[in-house]
Amino acid sequence: MTYQHSYAQSIADPAAFWAEQASHLAWYRAPTQTLQDNPDGTHRWFADGSLNSCYLALDHQIEQGRGEQLALIYDSPVTATQRTFTYHQLRDEVARLAGLLRQLGVGKGDGVIIYMPMVPEAAMAMLACARIGAVHSVVFGGFAANELALRIDDARPTLLLTASCGLEFDRVIEYKPLVDRALQLARHQPGHVLVLQRPQVAAPLQAGRDLDWQQALASAEPVAPVALEAGDPLYIMYTSGTTGKPKGIVRENGGNAVALRYAMQHIYGMQAGDVWWGISDVGWVVGHSLIVYGPLMSGCTTVFYEGKPIRTPDAAAYWRVVEQYRVNALFCAPTAMRAIRKEDPDGELLRRHDLGSLRQLFLAGEKLDSSTHEWLERVSGKPVHDHWWQTETGWPVTAPCVGLEGSAARPGSSNRAVPGYHVQVLDDDGHLLGPNHQGSIVIALPLPPGCSQTLWGDHERYLQAYLHTYPGYYHTGDGGYLDDDGFVYIMGRTDDVINVSGHRLSTGEMEDLVARHPTVAECAVIGVHDDIKGQVPLALVVLKDGESIAESQLLVELVGSVREAIGALACFNRVRVVKRLPKTRSGKILRAVLRKIADGQDYTPPSTLDDPAVLGEIEAVLADLPRAG
Ligand code: AMP
Repeated sequence: MTYQHSYAQSIADPAAFWAEQASHLAWYRAPTQTLQDNPDGTHRWFADGSLNSCYLALDHQIEQGRGEQLALIYDSPVTATQRTFTYHQLRDEVARLAGLLRQLGVGKGDGVIIYMPMVPEAAMAMLACARIGAVHSVVFGGFAANELALRIDDARPTLLLTASCGLEFDRVIEYKPLVDRALQLARHQPGHVLVLQRPQVAAPLQAGRDLDWQQALASAEPVAPVALEAGDPLYIMYTSGTTGKPKGIVRENGGNAVALRYAMQHIYGMQAGDVWWGISDVGWVVGHSLIVYGPLMSGCTTVFYEGKPIRTPDAAAYWRVVEQYRVNALFCAPTAMRAIRKEDPDGELLRRHDLGSLRQLFLAGEKLDSSTHEWLERVSGKPVHDHWWQTETGWPVTAPCVGLEGSAARPGSSNRAVPGYHVQVLDDDGHLLGPNHQGSIVIALPLPPGCSQTLWGDHERYLQAYLHTYPGYYHTGDGGYLDDDGFVYIMGRTDDVINVSGHRLSTGEMEDLVARHPTVAECAVIGVHDDIKGQVPLALVVLKDGESIAESQLLVELVGSVREAIGALACFNRVRVVKRLPKTRSGKILRAVLRKIADGQDYTPPSTLDDPAVLGEIEAVLADLPRAG
């Protein structure tokens, strides 16, 4: 099947195309209805299909003869541990954990929060929820108590699963105090907190509420997967929107299973028996699609890595893993490769490892800059591909489809739309733009299977955020253009979301925190260029009249409050005091101009600018910022 043929068919007749893809799945009851329109513009995929995602990821693989194949390889340089699980072993662990969850009162449709480091039990927890139809929501371990509390109140979990600690290089981060604090802040309280005690730290348990994971598991009985409707939610993944309240992206079982099977095979070129490494964390969408569900549902061996690109112990860590487990393809974020490049610019460490098994590397999460792209291809000698997706879509929107004939890759672009995605570019008035014209990147409806069709408990917000801006299209929030051959170039967000080390963060949320400081009259937080992290936040602050505070003191206090409320992952450590902010005559802060000044780019003062003199003042204050090389 060629890329061109698949793509054309997927757009001309999405129902026929996806019915064919769905027919390859081991449904309990195969769907007879493929695609239905809802009156509000959303869609239902495979409405009458019945399946179980955990069954597809484990039991079905065993039925296919893969019981003794490795399902998951846990490699943890931070604890000097390596453990492997065959499909049989992983299924047995998951079935028993699912039995424990049920014993603790978790049933179909109940929320379960998983706040855990990269230990295999985190993957088991996700799969155990899927087995009994509970809806998991993994919260990234780097998030502070306040962020966890927001998610607890939104997901209203029956149970919260955590571990005593996570490990950052050689630093132990205790999780339990964060969980306790979050539960003090949250209005909703889960019935129990299940705590995995790691050897590095023993977490104190609160009698009645907290349970020791291993002890509780000892008496649990394995349970079988339950039959779920295709539209039943598999998980909630919170992502930053433009406000402080995170959006609970909902992923459905049916669409997800069909889409991930398609993606693993046709985009990433993976077959059953291959070794796949999704380098990320279970706390992100990649962790769901490319560490747990995608590779396991495809019968691959998934590498589960608790370590960093550098300093665990060095910049050869990734290459050591590739060699040791004969990894066939990997996914990672550009920021990780930039960190490796900084320490091993000539690839000397890389060359000490045999990368013979590796077919290609896929990068996403932020734009793959051409310098890193060229460097990585040169030192690895492998094809390196940029591809683009979002938490909302759950799988790539644009990518080279290495499993389809006739698929091409074009360095510098995020490649072409994947079958199923009708990617187009619109101007501000919603008119279609031709090739090489920059505008808002949209996807003509229907979105293919797997893409989120609602937000947890707030369907209206979904419609507002994604479908109402341009009727008939899904609004991605990214700007960019297509070239003459349909290759897509992503230029960045058009809203107030920034991307720090591939993690999406809301500048609006940071502005709220900065504005709460008693000396601050108003502020703007923007994303500015960073050589390693891609972007980092910069706060421009106007002090209240009569207030004076040393910039260094203000920095310390603001860094403290952002860390406390969001977490260290925000990398918030730049603050500049300015006399005033550039605004439109109607009083809107012109953040796009601020971004350009901060990054040292050329700009045209917007015609709506109230007082052009302000730009010179800002330029002077920001003159010493590091600039894009
Ligand atoms: P997230 O939902 O956290 O995965 O973030 C999705 C956002 O990250 C997208 O909307 C883009 O702004 C950005 N992004 C992801 N992959 C790429 C890429 N390959 N090129 C440019 N931006 C990307």
